Amino acid sequence: MAPVSGRFPGRTPKRIYRNFSLNESDLSASPIPRYDLLGEDYFSLGQGYRMLPVQTTRGCPRSCDFCSVPQIYGRAFRKKSADQIIREVEAARAAAPNQLFLFADDNMFINRRFSKELLKALIPLRIRYLAQSDIGIARDKELLRLMYQSGCTMLLVGLESLSQDNLKNVDGFKSKMLKNYHEYVKRIQDNGIVVLGAFIVGFDHDDSSVFDRISEFVLDTQLTPHRRLFDPSVVARRRGYYRRVLQSLPRCYVNRFQEVIECPEMEYSV
Ligand code: SF4
Repeated sequence: MAPVSGRFPGRTPKRIYRNFSLNESDLSASPIPRYDLLGEDYFSLGQGYRMLPVQTTRGCPRSCDFCSVPQIYGRAFRKKSADQIIREVEAARAAAPNQLFLFADDNMFINRRFSKELLKALIPLRIRYLAQSDIGIARDKELLRLMYQSGCTMLLVGLESLSQDNLKNVDGFKSKMLKNYHEYVKRIQDNGIVVLGAFIVGFDHDDSSVFDRISEFVLDTQLTPHRRLFDPSVVARRRGYYRRVLQSLPRCYVNRFQEVIECPEMEYSV
């Protein structure tokens, strides 16, 4: 490979860069982010900036073959302490009161014991937040209850595909979960948490019927589809799909994606 000019003059880039210390970074040494630097403009930047991001953990022990998380953050699940996270939440809230939080972890509830400790500590703060998880959390009723009590409003769940053949290629764990997808989505919803289902289309075993199969699943389960996938500007114009999906969600009032989700039948109680 020839030496490059410009930003790194005279250096020869390597073919592959690897970070061998990925799994070693100690999150307990992570300082509290300077939320006070956000400034008033932050929340007017656009949709993605309407939440206060807090990262509580890094790494995911699963290895879904499309996912960048194990490569970027490593497979070792590391966490901040519950006290440390509470201090971060309080610092963020002091900088921007009454904002929705986003726990930016890619798979937040892997360590159930720690998750429960953290959720119990979050309850008195009475925040509202969004989080991300795999569907496996639906097997833990206590965890779901604590998530609701601590203010979890919406959960992004990577369902990925409704095809066993596809999921076998993606991740063994998810392929085992598939037969329970309906039941598990309902369990999360029954605990007052809106499920934002994330699907990927275009896997090796997909054909054009994939859209109808996902559509039926979304309508059956009252899932909230990920707007980036079911983009109203594209899909609704062609098939009225997005409009039909929203009409089928009597339990949820979606004011604006990622901003306000209300479940009128549910009361927030601790
Ligand atoms: S469970 Fe989620 S975060 Fe973990 S590897 Fe799979 S897609 Fe990535």
